[in-house]
Amino acid sequence: MARVIAIDGPSGSGKSSTSKRVGAALGFLHVDSGALYRIMTWQCLEKGVDTQDESAVAACANEVEVECRAEGGAIAYYVGGEPPGERIRTPEINAHASHVAKVKEVRERITALLRGMTRYGDLVVEGRDITTAVFPDSPARFYLTASAEARAARRQKEEVEKGIANQSAEAVKESLLARDAIDSTRKYAPLKKADGALEIDSTALTLDQVVETVLAALPAEWRTER
Ligand code: C5P
Repeated sequence: MARVIAIDGPSGSGKSSTSKRVGAALGFLHVDSGALYRIMTWQCLEKGVDTQDESAVAACANEVEVECRAEGGAIAYYVGGEPPGERIRTPEINAHASHVAKVKEVRERITALLRGMTRYGDLVVEGRDITTAVFPDSPARFYLTASAEARAARRQKEEVEKGIANQSAEAVKESLLARDAIDSTRKYAPLKKADGALEIDSTALTLDQVVETVLAALPAEWRTER
């Protein structure tokens, strides 16, 4: 049976950096579940689908073929034979993703895809509903948080460094809080801390400290194999 480390938290809480580092330390494949919601959003927008129209979103997402490949320590996604790259990281996708992620059929499809990834090996999966809905039985579940200011500052730095956008920290904070509000109040699999998940507030911690906290909290037999 493949082992799964599940990490949830709001936007900019440090899930990606932490899960990549934890995955690399243990030889677990990194899985970015948010990228799948972003791919569905991107495809809806490309086809001119109104992202507030749930049945149109469900129909569109149902047609999207996402190919998954284990490469470079992660599960990589391909659409039409190509990686989507930074096309799924734009402010426009940020603004629409939470609407697409509200749709039950989209969530069911992505949940099935994520569960199927255990066939590639041990995983560290990050997202919003991994600890509560996708892998609720994992013995290694974490909820990352940080202040809204810290989260917005991290995201803004990332956007500028990657040349994705040049928004002010205030604009990034607004978009991030709007997304969090929709993600935490939606009907299906809302973002929340799961009972039994270890909460880590990374506001005043370095990435090394967060990674160490996660590694130290894993089941003993997972750690001894490091
Ligand atoms: O993690 P990321 O910011 O890339 O996720 C984009 C959006 O995808 C989130 O705001 C959320 O609406 C949705 N998402 C989700 N469940 C997940 C991962 C992401 O609903 N497990």
